[in-house]
Amino acid sequence: MTRLVSGEEVPLESHDKALRPQTLSEFVGQEQAKGNLSVFIEAAKARAEALDHVLLFGPPGLGKTTLAQIVARELGVNFRATSGPVLAKAGDLAAILTNLEPRDVLFIDEIHRLPANVEEILYPAMEDHVLDLIIGDGPSARSIRIDLAPFTLVAATTRAGLLATPLRDRFGIPLRLEFYTHGELQKVLTQAARKMNLELSPDGALEIAARARGTPRVAGRLLRRVRDFAAADGATLIDQKAAAKALARLDVDEAGLDALDRRYLRALIENYGGGPAGVETLAYAIAEARDAVEDVIEPYLLQQGFIQRTPRGRMVCAKAYTHIGLTPPPQIQA
Ligand code: ADP
Repeated sequence: MTRLVSGEEVPLESHDKALRPQTLSEFVGQEQAKGNLSVFIEAAKARAEALDHVLLFGPPGLGKTTLAQIVARELGVNFRATSGPVLAKAGDLAAILTNLEPRDVLFIDEIHRLPANVEEILYPAMEDHVLDLIIGDGPSARSIRIDLAPFTLVAATTRAGLLATPLRDRFGIPLRLEFYTHGELQKVLTQAARKMNLELSPDGALEIAARARGTPRVAGRLLRRVRDFAAADGATLIDQKAAAKALARLDVDEAGLDALDRRYLRALIENYGGGPAGVETLAYAIAEARDAVEDVIEPYLLQQGFIQRTPRGRMVCAKAYTHIGLTPPPQIQA
C-alpha cells in the first residue's frame, strides 16, 4: 500500500535517512522514553557493560529505528540492523550474533514476525549470551554451545500484544512511543526543512504538522510533496497558504485523513450502520489487508476519536459523521 499519509516506510524513502536526528537531544518529543533511555545509557556506560535489551513499540513512522541508531551512537558501539521477516532460519541469526563485538547494538525490526525456530535461539542469546545450535540431523546430530559477546538487542514492533510473553519478558527496558503533538511535529519539520535548505515559515510548518497524523515520517513525506508544489508555483517560501493549497491538492484533509481513511469511515457507516463491525469484515469492504487496517489506518482514527474499539467490533463516533459531511443519528449524538 503506497499512501501519502501511511506511517510505513516505502523503499524510495531511503534518501530521508540523511534527515534522521543523530543524537537524543536532536530527537524531538517522546520525553518519557528519552528520559529513561538516557539514564540507562549513562549507567551502562559508567559500568562499562552492555545496555539491557530494549523493546520499542508503537505505530510505524514514530522513530523506532531512529531511536535504536541513536542508542548505539550514544553508547559508542556498532549498530547492526535486521528484521523479523528477513531472519528465516536459525543460522541467519546465528551468523549475525557471532559477529557482534562486545556491547554492540543489534536492531531487529518487526520482531513479532520472527519465525518460532529463530526466536528459540534468541532466548539463551539474550539471557546468557550463548548460542545453542544443532549441527547435522538424524542420529549424527549433536548440539554445540557457542559463547557470544554481551550485546544489546533493540527490538521494534508495531504491536507488543503479538509478542510471546517469554520474549516480551526478556526485555529489561520496554518503551512505548506515542503519537507526536502538533507542536512537536512543527519542530521536526523545522529541523528537516533546515537540512533540506528549504524556507518554511512557522505557520507553514504548523499547517503540515496538523495533517501529519502525529507521525514524523508522514510529516517528512508531506513536506517533500509540499516543496514540489511550491517549486512548481515558483514560491521560495513555504507559508501557511502555500502548505494548505498543496495539501488540498494532495487530498489530505485538515484532520490528516486521506481518501482511504474516509472510505473506511464511510464503509463502517454506510455498510454496517456505524458498527459494531469486525476488522476482518471492514478490511474486506475496503479491499485492504487486515494488517494494514490494524497497523496503519485504525491507530490514528482511534487516537483522534473517529472510531472506538469495543468487544463486539469497531464502532464509529459522532465526529466521524460530521467529518465526512453526514449527520450523526440521534442515538450516537454526543
Ligand atoms: P519507525 O522505525 O518507527 O518506523 P523511523 O525511525 O524510521 O520510524 O522514523 C521515520 C522518519 O521520521 C525518519 O525519517 C526520521 O528521521 C523521522 N523521525 C522519527 N522520529 C523523529 C523525531 N523524534 N524527531 C525527528 N525526526 C524523527
